[in-house]
Amino acid sequence: MNTDMANGDQFRELIEAYALGALDPPERASLEAHLAAGCADCTKALDEARWLVSQLAFLAPDAQPSDMLRGRLLQTVRVEARTAKSAKPTGAIPFWMWGAVAALLLFTVYMSWETIQVKKTIEASNEQAKQEIAKRHELEEKLALAQRQAIILTDPRSVKIPMATGSKDMPKLEAMWHAKLGIVVMGQSVPMPSGNRTLQLWLIPKTPGAKPMPSMMVRPDADGKFMLLVANPPDAMESTKALAITEEPAGGSQAPTTKPIWVGAVG
Ligand SMILES: [Zn+2]
Repeated sequence: MNTDMANGDQFRELIEAYALGALDPPERASLEAHLAAGCADCTKALDEARWLVSQLAFLAPDAQPSDMLRGRLLQTVRVEARTAKSAKPTGAIPFWMWGAVAALLLFTVYMSWETIQVKKTIEASNEQAKQEIAKRHELEEKLALAQRQAIILTDPRSVKIPMATGSKDMPKLEAMWHAKLGIVVMGQSVPMPSGNRTLQLWLIPKTPGAKPMPSMMVRPDADGKFMLLVANPPDAMESTKALAITEEPAGGSQAPTTKPIWVGAVG
């Protein structure tokens, strides 16, 4: 029994904060002096608090509580300690443990919240990065195709191939064939093929009896604009007699299944 106990031992409410390393230097110094003086209650409380703090540390081995968190832990410990003290508990659970349990809960909640936030951030940035890269690739491809198309349409070395139609309902189309960069076929006011059918380009070889070579397919846009770019034609201009376009089922065909709507002689 000492005077501290008679006064309710004001040092006891500092024990948890001390074990957490959250005391400011003057408080720490006075508590250490008090412990050095041999207060049995405080020494016992400190052993228990240290054990609990070690459990906290075990929960999150890599985590250093932030200053903010330390502050909140300290505040919780003090408030709980004060409340418990004024209530003068007589039960078996020492009052300091309420503060420590509150601190443990707070710490656990904080850690899981932080873990979720970090995970969310990582997931979000991964997903965002993927989308950015995909978007950039798409733009680069579009740009490359647009550049190729522009060169094919403007290069004097390109060969112009008017594509006539036997149908009065259909506009004329025009193809431009650049020996190195490919073929562009374009036109306006082209009716939309029914259902999901598509318009497919064919290369008719000069070789007698050779079968039409399937090329790319496209549908006009909502305004009837028809624009087809073939970057890699299946055959060279020199060995091609004509270009033809037929209507085919979605996905195209290996051999024409309908009569050509447009035909244009090459060269
Ligand atoms: Zn004491």
